Amino acid sequence: MKGSFPIRVFKETRTPFYYYDTELLRKTLDTIRSEVGKYENFCVHYAVKANANHKLLTIIREAGLGADCVSGGEIEAALKAGFPSRKIVYAGVGKSDWEIALGLDNDIFCFNVESEPELEIINALAGEKGRTARVALRINPNVGAHTHANITTGLAENKFGIAMHDLERIISLAQHLEHVQLVGLHFHIGSQILDMGDFMALCNRINELQEQLYKQHIVVQHINVGGGLGVDYQHPNRQPVPDFAAYFATYHKHLKLFPGQTLHFELGRAVVCQCGSLITQVLYVKQGTHKQFAIVDAGMTDLIRPALYQAYHKIENITSEDSVETYDVVGPICESSDVFGKAIDLNRCRRGDLIAIRSAGAYGEIMASGYNCRKLPEGYLSEEMK
Ligand SMILES: *Cc1c(COP(=O)(O)O)cnc(C)c1O
Repeated sequence: MKGSFPIRVFKETRTPFYYYDTELLRKTLDTIRSEVGKYENFCVHYAVKANANHKLLTIIREAGLGADCVSGGEIEAALKAGFPSRKIVYAGVGKSDWEIALGLDNDIFCFNVESEPELEIINALAGEKGRTARVALRINPNVGAHTHANITTGLAENKFGIAMHDLERIISLAQHLEHVQLVGLHFHIGSQILDMGDFMALCNRINELQEQLYKQHIVVQHINVGGGLGVDYQHPNRQPVPDFAAYFATYHKHLKLFPGQTLHFELGRAVVCQCGSLITQVLYVKQGTHKQFAIVDAGMTDLIRPALYQAYHKIENITSEDSVETYDVVGPICESSDVFGKAIDLNRCRRGDLIAIRSAGAYGEIMASGYNCRKLPEGYLSEEMK
């Protein structure tokens, strides 16, 4: 089954562009809201880095989610889309001074701190402004996620977070610094995780840690478990709304919270991935020695995931019902890795046919670059294309 698209409008629109099905996005957000609503102390932030398109951010903010930012630019994008600053969390291994200042000036909910020197700088900058920064310590729980090596973040070898064995020292430092208030512990083990066992492993690790800290009379106000819930790239139509019920239930069942503690999530991919497609046009069909190429007008500058992570995206010819042939689908960029898929079965392609590269709503448009002096792709909502 192919996705359904407004082909007539697409034919009048310059390609390549991103198309976002807002009906699906709203359905996804409704599901999150109703599943989260089952647990009174759960709170969801949207990870802005997955897609910072202003129109999408606005819809997500209207649904009541907070924002999880990893740069000053993302904090600005979130504020511009109307996210209340008290619902903004800010993580990242390399926060520069102006970014910390921006967070302080807006009195954001929390800085997720990733190292001891960062904690000291936040304390110093907050002191200069006569403020107190709320901080959570990002802990590297040394829990592996069974996903692509480039998108696991919770192992000791990764650059992220504070190692478990440094934690107690840094907590006592935080308690002694005058302009920071330790309010939480933060974790994020990776992305595109579909095995609930990985999240259970994280819960168990957090439980152990909380027990250990409790013995030293340390109980923080909130636990933040990051994001990482994956989507089905193989079958974008099968379960377009990810299984949020199972995801939140896993945490409810396995994570032991102390009375009064809230549990925060930072979901990116699972919120926006399936609502987006990259729409591109076939420029040429070229017969190679052993295969045929469908050369399209989108490239790795528009969607870099296949080149960067060998990621799979389902590809469909949405304007042909002809018999199926096999193609390597490639872009125009001067790089051999500019390939969207090899040996892909598509309805026979002709010049001008429209191709949809599915499940492209997350880490697509936002990762676009101007390499080869290419124009950045536009992003359109379905309601703009009726
Ligand atoms: C990337 C990131 C997220 C979101 O990850 P998804 O896999 O898109 O859900 C959440 N928290 C932090 C700290 C991140 O870096």
